[in-house]
Amino acid sequence: MATGKINVSVENIFPLIKKFLYSDHEIFLRELISNATDATLKLKHLVSIGEAKVELGDPIIEVKIDKKGKKIHIIDQGIGMTEEEVKKYINEVAFSGAEEFLDKYKDAGKDAGIIGHFGLGFYSAFMVANKVEIITKSYKDEPAVHWTCDGSPEFTIKKAKKEDRGTEIILHIADDSTEFLEDARIRELLLKYNKFMPVPIKFGTRTETLPKPEGAKEDDPAPTKEVDNIINNPNPAWTKKPTELKDEDYKNFYRELYAMQFEEPLFHIHLNVDYPFNLTGILYFPKLTTDINIQKDRIQLYQNQVFVTDNVEGIVPEFLTMLRGVIDSPDIPLNVSRSYLQADGAVKKISSYITKKVADKLNSLFKNNREDFEKKWNDIKVVIEYGMLSEEKFFEKAEKFALYPTVDGEYLTFEELEKKIKDDQTDKDGKMVILYASDKEEQHSYIEAAKAKGYEVLLMDSPIVSHFMQKLETTKEKISFARVDADHIDNLIKKEDSAISKLSDEEKDRLKEELEKVVGEKSNYTIQLEAMDSTAQPFIITEPEFMRRMK
Ligand code: ADP
Ligand code: MG
Repeated sequence: MATGKINVSVENIFPLIKKFLYSDHEIFLRELISNATDATLKLKHLVSIGEAKVELGDPIIEVKIDKKGKKIHIIDQGIGMTEEEVKKYINEVAFSGAEEFLDKYKDAGKDAGIIGHFGLGFYSAFMVANKVEIITKSYKDEPAVHWTCDGSPEFTIKKAKKEDRGTEIILHIADDSTEFLEDARIRELLLKYNKFMPVPIKFGTRTETLPKPEGAKEDDPAPTKEVDNIINNPNPAWTKKPTELKDEDYKNFYRELYAMQFEEPLFHIHLNVDYPFNLTGILYFPKLTTDINIQKDRIQLYQNQVFVTDNVEGIVPEFLTMLRGVIDSPDIPLNVSRSYLQADGAVKKISSYITKKVADKLNSLFKNNREDFEKKWNDIKVVIEYGMLSEEKFFEKAEKFALYPTVDGEYLTFEELEKKIKDDQTDKDGKMVILYASDKEEQHSYIEAAKAKGYEVLLMDSPIVSHFMQKLETTKEKISFARVDADHIDNLIKKEDSAISKLSDEEKDRLKEELEKVVGEKSNYTIQLEAMDSTAQPFIITEPEFMRRMK
């Protein structure tokens, strides 16, 4: 048995950890399970490269509550630690073993998906415990070690009688943290932070009903069996390749993410990139028309399958925070302020990648099944219009698929709309006037009047429509929006209204000839028919400026 002192002026660090390291005490469990996961993945990795010659089996992590003893046990079957390693990794606070491991196994380590890199994760245990024990046996053939520390810089270390490989962490829960001795509280935390962690996590057992044996009578009870209650799904959909997943799998994962969500998502976008940054994830467009809980069911951010936050502000462009789903990236710096995040180069790239993927998906939905896209338009238009308002890059892409519904239920792209009305709905300044109604019932008579004159009327009723129209008016040349009940209609000019447009080409030529005769030998005059697009004049005769000066 040995005693010692933990390095790095820990006297100062412990109270700091307890108070300030993490404002949220509950994350101790996330940190310890992350370590257990790291330890398991490290072993898997060492076995796979032939460096650890042990039987891997199907390692799991177990969380146990000992209510009477006021203890929580976290047990893994990972690489474990030798005495030397305990001294090195545990006693040297703020010395992150994960970083050293990554250094050593560099790129291979990256693929192993190691979680820890803060170097203080283990000590977060002291936020809720007044004494912590580690009983650990390395995969290397060395005796097991028992380390104990009561929160002061003093610790004891001795040999232990542990037969199987791995680490058990025992937390002696402090009196102010007994909430963590409640099953329900721990279950809640496991589901919040560890629901998709890559190693199965056992918390208690559950009764499984087995199929009845052959020949059983109808009212014989079905046999049951106690099985491990595995709390997490170690292989969530976003970690798989898009080609491995069917539409149904995406829908199931949506329900897995948002348990109380009965409404189906409209569609999904699978994110998958590994250069120049690492990012996977699945985003869903929810039906925004039904009353949704934007606050609660938000996009979740993970790092290597560990839940980090559901506040993705600064990482995802604001207009996409209305979406749902998961983003997983080890490249997003954590523990930094939001304003720092927004300025970070990698995060900026991630944000614009996501924007581009969303735009591309919308474009392909539009192209491949326009009818279906039109059906969904009402549910997605707010996101798209908001995106067009706030992100220039998105505006450019969305121009191709943004739709403008008419009061008659036709959905036109801007280009189609323009083609349709350009010649018929112009004001005296030559601007194309887009008539719109915001309420079909209320403005019914105006709509009918406009339609009677042969005008097209759009139905623009999204909550941000006025900003959106303003944006279009300033971005596009020569267009203006006019509400159908304003008196603009009377000022519109139609091509058909002019006498000239009714003439045949032959008649037009003759008219031109006659006019030329009138204008006479002054061949420098230009005669332009059908100039009334902008002027309401049947024709224009222009006199070049230099002629006028000569006069
Ligand atoms: P980090 O995880 O960022 O490296 P921690 O303070 O969480 O920092 O852990 C410190 C080190 O202690 C780890 O890097 C690892 O080497 C070791 N360690 C902690 N928990 C375990 C465990 N369950 N099994 C094996 N090693 C562990
Ligand atoms: Mg850690």
